[in-house]
Order: sequence, then structure tokens, then C-alpha cells
Amino acid sequence: MERIVLHIDMDAFFASVEQRDHEEYRGKPVIVGGLGPRGVVSTASYEARKFGVHSAQAMAIARRLCPNAIFLHPDHARYSDVSRQIFSILSRFSPVIEQLSIDEGFLDLTGMERLMENPRVYGEEIKRAVREETGLTASVGIAPNKFLAKLASDLEKPDGLVVIRPEDAEKVLAPLPVNRIFGVGKKTEARLAALGFRTIGQLAAADRGKLAQALGNRMASQLLALAHGLDERPVEPRRAAQSIGREETFDEDIRSREEAEKVLLALSEEVGWRLRRQGLFARTITLKIRLGSFDTFTRQQTLPEPIAYDEDIFREAQTLFRAFSMPPGQGIRLLGVSAGNLSEGGEVSLFDDHEKKDRLYGAIDSLKRRFGEGVVTRAALQTPKQ
Ligand SMILES: [Mg+2]
Repeated sequence: MERIVLHIDMDAFFASVEQRDHEEYRGKPVIVGGLGPRGVVSTASYEARKFGVHSAQAMAIARRLCPNAIFLHPDHARYSDVSRQIFSILSRFSPVIEQLSIDEGFLDLTGMERLMENPRVYGEEIKRAVREETGLTASVGIAPNKFLAKLASDLEKPDGLVVIRPEDAEKVLAPLPVNRIFGVGKKTEARLAALGFRTIGQLAAADRGKLAQALGNRMASQLLALAHGLDERPVEPRRAAQSIGREETFDEDIRSREEAEKVLLALSEEVGWRLRRQGLFARTITLKIRLGSFDTFTRQQTLPEPIAYDEDIFREAQTLFRAFSMPPGQGIRLLGVSAGNLSEGGEVSLFDDHEKKDRLYGAIDSLKRRFGEGVVTRAALQTPKQ
């Protein structure tokens, strides 16, 4: 049966919520993100984007590009409330919803008879319901599969609505650059350019044998299928986790920094394993420290690139820990590491330079599945037993 998949993505979500709730921010450049020296932009309003500000950019650069913007620290609790409201609206339109992140998801509309005739009307209804009930605009893409639906929702942002019919898919894709294919990052893009493929249309016309020779069989067939607009992945109903974390309380307060960092490594490994098991990537790492006095501190870092590997999570947790100045005479009662700002980035790891790491972590993860989480850690693998 032919499928119909709808992708919905809120426009400049964090910044739009701020503008909705503060009249004085409306029509002005609003930049939401980390305001510290290593801060990163989470969302920029469309007024700020005109100055070249975009998400994942270093806040220092954003400040230079748009010094008169309104700079705000993200209010995740409020955004989560709005997100819950949005997904409950969406659940009236389809029972099969796959939430990708706080403001983005797929709806499977397959089998809804009246839709087959006019999916655009349905898309308009969804957009109207979201706008009337939340005061926020969304962009929607409707297509025969997830790849095309997500691509479609991005084509006329903001407040867009694009329908790609199966018979038009290749025509729509042909002129677009290859980096519009999910998983094609800078490295793969450069490799494809070296082979003479800049547009998706050029890639679709590639000789399979030659492509496989250059990129390997698996990657060649995946890229070719996508270039032809084919994507079999089902819409998998689930609510996106808001964050994934692990913390540990100690019987006796920890007093050595070295020991604390060992615990952070173990916690980072568990968080990484849980992320990868769910195909998730994180853009915010939070460190939690509770002292012997029960005073509790959290420190947070938002990153330009989503991460899921233990060593990357650990590096961030360690950096946050080293920047924390411990009050003298205090021990540590509890340490926690959590990963937030999650997205489904699983496919990205199919390409680029992640392949080698994927094999290593694939091996570790399959041992964990067989023998239990506590058995294998990178630390255990790397430190000879005494
Ligand atoms: Mg969005």
C-alpha cells in the first residue's frame, strides 16, 4: 500500500515561544542559547537569522553578527509544556506519531481514505489547529516516506506546507544539493563532489558499480535509494525522551578529584550506551554535583554538534567538572551526568568518519546486551586488571 507520511516542525521554536509570551520581543531579533563564554545558539528568531545567526553557532559569533538582539537563556521547562500541548493536538490527527525532538515529529497518515484525494487540506487543518491553540506556526511536509516528508517541510519554512507526490519525487530532488540527503555531512559531500556528484539528480543517475567501488556497497545502495526518493523506514510510534541521565550517591563522600572523574567516566559510558541503544544523539550535557552539605549544583554545556559516544560525553562532563570550584573542606555526595536536547541522529553515523567508531561501539554494545550493562566499560577494556 502506498504510504502517506507527514513531517511537522515548529518554526524557530524556542524563540517563537519567547516572542509569543513577551510582546516586547515581537518583530525583534531574539537569540536563545547558552550565554556563557562557550555558549552555543539553540534557536534564533527569523529576525535574527537575517543577520546570519543560526542554531549551533557559537554565541560569541552571534553576538558579533547581531549585537542588538535580545539574548535569552533557554527555559526548557516552559518549552516542554508547549511541546506536550502540540503533540496532544497532533494525536487527534493520527494514532501513529513518532516524536523526533521537542518540536518535530512524523505522523503516519496511511490508510486515511479522504487524505488520498487531498493531503494538502489535511496539512492545512493540522497547521491551523496548532496555530489557533498554541499561537505558534509550524512547517509541514507530506510525502510517501520519512525522507521526503522531512525534506518537504523544510522547503518553504517558515509557515510552509509542501506536498510531494510519489510521481514528483525525483523531479523535486534532482536540483537539490547532495547534502539535503540525511546523513550526508561535509566529508561525504566532499567525496561525492570529487566523484562529480553535486546534485541529487546527478547522484541518482550514477553507475551503481562505480559508486560502490568508491564508497562501499552499503553506502552506495543507501545513497542511490535516497537519491531516487525511496525510504522504507516505518514511522515508529514513540515519545521522544526529554533527557537520559545517570547519577550515583556515594556511601562516603568522595574527596579526590581523580576518583570523581573515574565515576564521571563510568556514568558517561552508561549514558552513551543508553543513547546509542535508542538511536539518539544529545546536544546538551549536564553535570550534577551534590556536596556533603547537600548543596546541589548543575552545570550545563550545549554543543554545536550532537554527540552519542562515551568519550565525547565524558570530555564535556570532565570539562564542566574541572571548571567547578569546590568549596574548601567539602566532599562530594552525589555525581550525575545527563544528556538532553535529544534528537534522532542515528542515520548520520552510517556515513562520514563515524564508521570506525561505530564498529568499536557496536562491539561494546553487543557485549553489553549479552552480559549486562555493568560488565563491559571502556575503562575496563583499556585499564589492565591488577
Ligand atoms: Mg523546529
